[in-house]
Amino acid sequence: AKHVYDFTEGNRNLKDLLGGKGANLAEMTNLGLPVPPGFTITAEACRHYLAAGAMPDGLEQEIAGHLDALEKKMGRRLGQADDPLLVSVRSGAKFSMPGMMETVLNIGLNDESVHGLAKQAGGNERFAWDSYRRLIQMFGKTVLDIDGDLFERALDELKGRRQDTDLDADELQGLVEAYKRIVREQTGKDFPADPREQMRLAVMAVFDSWNAPRAVLYRRQERIPPDLGTAVNIMAMVFGNYGDDSGTGVAFTRDPGSGRQGIYGDYLQNAQGEDVVAGIRNTIPLEELERIDKHSYDELLGIMQTLETHYKDLCDIEFTIERGTLWMLQTRVGKRTAGAAFRIATQLVDQGLITLDEAVTRVTGDQLAQLMFPRFDAGAERKKIAKGMNASPGAAVGKAVFSSARAVELAEQGEDVILVRRETNPDDLAGMIAAKGILTSRGGKTSHAAVVARGMGKTCVCGAEELDVDTRERTFAAPDGVVVSEGDVISIDGTTGEVFLGEVPVVPSAVVEYFEGAEPGDELVKAVDRIMRRADEARRLGVRANADTPDDAARARRFGARGIGLCRTEHMFLGERRQLVEDLVLASSDEERQAALNALEPLQKSDFIGIFRAMEGDPVTVRLIDPPLHEFLPDIVDLSVKVATSSDVTEKDRKLLAAVKRLHEQNPMLALRGVRLGLVIPGLFAMQVRAIAQAAKEVPGARPEIMIPLVAAVQELESVREEAVKILADVGVEALIGTMIEVPRAALTAGQIAEAAEFFSFGTNDLTQMAWGFSRDDVESSFFHRYLDLGIFGVSPFESLDREGVGRLIRIAVEEGRAARPDLHLGICGEHGGDPDSVHFCHDVGLDYVSCSPFRIPVARLEAGRAAL
Ligand code: ADP
Ligand code: MG
Ligand code: MG
Repeated sequence: AKHVYDFTEGNRNLKDLLGGKGANLAEMTNLGLPVPPGFTITAEACRHYLAAGAMPDGLEQEIAGHLDALEKKMGRRLGQADDPLLVSVRSGAKFSMPGMMETVLNIGLNDESVHGLAKQAGGNERFAWDSYRRLIQMFGKTVLDIDGDLFERALDELKGRRQDTDLDADELQGLVEAYKRIVREQTGKDFPADPREQMRLAVMAVFDSWNAPRAVLYRRQERIPPDLGTAVNIMAMVFGNYGDDSGTGVAFTRDPGSGRQGIYGDYLQNAQGEDVVAGIRNTIPLEELERIDKHSYDELLGIMQTLETHYKDLCDIEFTIERGTLWMLQTRVGKRTAGAAFRIATQLVDQGLITLDEAVTRVTGDQLAQLMFPRFDAGAERKKIAKGMNASPGAAVGKAVFSSARAVELAEQGEDVILVRRETNPDDLAGMIAAKGILTSRGGKTSHAAVVARGMGKTCVCGAEELDVDTRERTFAAPDGVVVSEGDVISIDGTTGEVFLGEVPVVPSAVVEYFEGAEPGDELVKAVDRIMRRADEARRLGVRANADTPDDAARARRFGARGIGLCRTEHMFLGERRQLVEDLVLASSDEERQAALNALEPLQKSDFIGIFRAMEGDPVTVRLIDPPLHEFLPDIVDLSVKVATSSDVTEKDRKLLAAVKRLHEQNPMLALRGVRLGLVIPGLFAMQVRAIAQAAKEVPGARPEIMIPLVAAVQELESVREEAVKILADVGVEALIGTMIEVPRAALTAGQIAEAAEFFSFGTNDLTQMAWGFSRDDVESSFFHRYLDLGIFGVSPFESLDREGVGRLIRIAVEEGRAARPDLHLGICGEHGGDPDSVHFCHDVGLDYVSCSPFRIPVARLEAGRAAL
């Protein structure tokens, strides 16, 4: 295979092979822009090198061949003593990882060629020695793995209060000697003088830098696959460090913060490479280049225009001016804030550079989600006391409270509170709803607190392990002796995971106000509006909500949901109704059981009436009760203690304890729950179906869909279905009857199950748990970070759907289900329904809709539109 491409051979579509930097250098070369000549070693060669620990066969010869050609073109040889060619060896992966990997400049210098370089520069000794010391410093740090501080310190000592540009040739020559000594001391060897050896070592160091810890970390955060490898660019050097007629700079074709068009950039005279971003000296605004070198400035603006028109997007660039000649060293479509992304996309439409369809594909659901959360004012003063996981974004301020009851109490008095717990459980729900934000010291991104908070669109920081939470004393201790007691104000940032002492001011999101129905006012909201309208027109996927209450249902509709894809019924059994569930469990006769069910039925019915009304004729998929019964009963330990030690134990307590013991399960998530409950407890599902049917009868236009959870075999479904059909007929209401596909066996026997189901909804939380054998509540905080380190997956399969495994099960179920029943209606209701990548999968696999929490609905609408375009 070909491993090396000259800049003239590549183009911007070859990013997989040449990396972003290499592909864009080739593109600029072919546009006729002034790019120093060079060539790119492919990422494929890097992958081979990293896997095999050695360069692929023939690579070194291929590199030598391209170097020969470069030397001919330049009329000088690499490191040639009297007239050296120098090159840079630059990393450049498919996705930009700014500053994460390595680059070495001025390769080819040694004790001889440094004189040749001075001669080439018309006797500019200072410049030559400056270049040489930079080489040893960069090479020492990145290739020889020497602590960069050693070089920094030597330079600082020499400089004193002066700037690097004040050092003269002799001083720089002395610095070179000092640097060479550092190399000798640290590695036991001399700095390699052979130019070709320098280049070879630098290439390998760039390959290796793919796996540098900070690069690994960055990839994980940005969800960049861990196995792509980096390309290496070898490029003839141009010099911004000749003197004041030279310099180097970076620029954007528009403001990446706001999207406004204009001239944004920084320039530094008599400088090389990283100096601009490293903050060695103060840079000047790019506009001032006009005064210093008008010719280069005008040329640069022209090139920026060319690039914007060519890439049809914001570009960022690196350039160098060598004695009045402008050179382009890099360009790419630049990163930008979420707000700028929306504004730029629509500006480009207005400028006629792209279509509205393209604009939709230019923004992402993640960016939209960012725009929906209130934020802390970044300019405000703040005291950070801890950092946990950014579980659910947003900015929340309130008084710390340590119990659900206290949260509710203070909230009712109009106070803003942050619920602080070691971890939360379903009993904390009321407090979580009452609180502005939730902070836990334990648990990962899929812990109860995190999942529930995300579902509610509530700010949550979880797993802040530095905090020692004492709920009994109502305090938590943070590092440095900080102690927060109930009533003290704290601020939590769910976007970053930071926890602050005191109140940090927030700014609200205009985008949410727009989704809530406000007229689009400012430029950003107008841009969001235009893009959302087009996405809605274009998408094939329907978008529904996971909503259990009339309030959530109503918000979901405002946010654009057309239907509920998952209405859980278990919340309807909590609170005061717990008593009735206990009666149901304790019933010792058919009569007692039926009495308990009869008491629950009207309550359920009124719940459903509220939701059907809120959805105004859109379909509502109601899932019959799913969780194991123990979740509704007292805790086995608490109750045992009470029965053993308390003086006022009632007969009921004793019976309850017996029942709790009887129902105690080793592994409740795989035990008596879902359809199994319906089959084991006579009348339970019948009561729910009757409540749904009667509610539907009272709300004109209601469209109930009855969903049976945890089905693994068609026989389970058939038996529930038979009973449900009768009840519906009795009441005189029509409803679809279907099932969740969340047990692998259901997916694998979908053809049979479809005989008894009018719809499937993929419950991908359980399906992922069971496909991987991961207990969701346990694995994330215990070993997922290790799995991410090892690259077993790039992102948690609970966050983004695992296409290969879980996705395969879905594909099978879709194909076999539709083969058995062509009009089978298909949706997804796991957390994945609001995850951008998973939405694209759902589109590709041919589902009819995705269902997600109300706050994710705009994200799902946008991503569904993007998937269709
Ligand atoms: P990064 O990916 O971290 O930006 P680069 O490979 O772009 O690293 O290089 C670092 C700096 O060195 C940049 O400012 C770049 O413009 C400069 N540079 C790279 N190659 C050359 C070259 N051949 N001549 C002059 N400057 C160069
Ligand atoms: Mg760069
Ligand atoms: Mg489930």
